[in-house]
Amino acid sequence: MSQTADIISLFEHFVMPTYGRSLTIVRGKGSKCWDADGKEYLDFGGGVAVNILGHSHPAIVRALKQQAATLIHCSNLYYTEPQALLAKKLVELAGADGKCFFCNSGAEANEALYKLARKFGHDEGRFEIITMEGSFHGRTLAGIAATGQEKVKKGFEPMMPGFKHVQFNNLDAVRAAVGPQTAAILVEPVQGESGIRPATPEFLRGLRQLCDERNLLLMFDEVQCGNGRTGKFFGFQSIAPDAAPDALSMAKGIGGGFPIGAIWTRAVRKVKTADGEKPLCDILGPGTHASTFGGTPLACAVALAVIRTVEEKNLMAKAVARSKRLKRGLKALRAKFPCIKEVRGLGLMLGIELDREVKDVVAQCAAAGLLVIPAGTHTFRFVPPLTISNADADAALAILEKVLGQS
Ligand SMILES: *Cc1c(COP(=O)(O)O)cnc(C)c1O
Repeated sequence: MSQTADIISLFEHFVMPTYGRSLTIVRGKGSKCWDADGKEYLDFGGGVAVNILGHSHPAIVRALKQQAATLIHCSNLYYTEPQALLAKKLVELAGADGKCFFCNSGAEANEALYKLARKFGHDEGRFEIITMEGSFHGRTLAGIAATGQEKVKKGFEPMMPGFKHVQFNNLDAVRAAVGPQTAAILVEPVQGESGIRPATPEFLRGLRQLCDERNLLLMFDEVQCGNGRTGKFFGFQSIAPDAAPDALSMAKGIGGGFPIGAIWTRAVRKVKTADGEKPLCDILGPGTHASTFGGTPLACAVALAVIRTVEEKNLMAKAVARSKRLKRGLKALRAKFPCIKEVRGLGLMLGIELDREVKDVVAQCAAAGLLVIPAGTHTFRFVPPLTISNADADAALAILEKVLGQS
């Protein structure tokens, strides 16, 4: 049996079938990876927007080795320097005030946001969070309740109460949905899973104003659109930097492939509590929230190395330049192939919508050596590392052109 067949057989016997898998990937370097048969792929999925420095970047390998040899894990009963330094860095990137909480994934980061909102509204009996149709917030029970897509909820009813979905980019709909029990609004600045749809600047600014008027928390899910992908560190900063949220969640790219999640919340936002007025970032006190693995020295050292590399190598500006090149090429392909309906997105988070389901094109791209990922049924996305070269961008466009020409 080939190595691929062996591995697939083990999966069939021992791994729960929660994913539709295809290739067997064994190795990666930069923007490329290889399957068990030695076939090379240009990886424009990046592990679903995770590998922002590409595969096995030397800065990540170095940080992993150094920190692993020093201190891998230590509980949150103690202080550690990497967590402190990473929190400081993220606070600077998010808006100069506030604090962070660390966990291990996007869904978990969003859980921390829901608990922040519940604690914030608790004494006034407010607990409801308004989220958007087409949103995606993760696969925990609260995550699927928050997510504005029926397909993630099916089979897991009853849903956790306290979430209400309204039309994305429709400020009037959000305004109409705010009620006496509303505590917060949660939105992805660029919707990822449902098709790469950016929020409009007017929408984010309108939400900011609405939250100020009605004393609500504005919360952004930056799990996919954060981490420098749009050309600024957080997606909202590329759309409406004046619409800063009260809290935001991060994960995916922040560890460059090492699992880590986090939230940031503001200090300047004050909250009345039984023990007097407190900064929002201090309302989750000892005993209210925790994570065994959250913010381990290893995860934080790697995330710090990733962010330093993004800054030192000017990768956010490079992402914008590569994005322009890709968008130009994709628009030329749209002119040539009418099956491309629309090209959307910001920076290196681009969606290509077709007039048909994308399953076949995604499989044909893989067969031709390009990994891309569906976002909904009719859109596929380019979410490559921020480190891709012009040659990588051109190669991806050439493969896509060949595939579309044959289909
Ligand atoms: C991927 C994603 C999540 C869930 O992250 P996990 O790490 O899979 O739990 C949440 N929100 C958004 C916007 C995402 O793209």
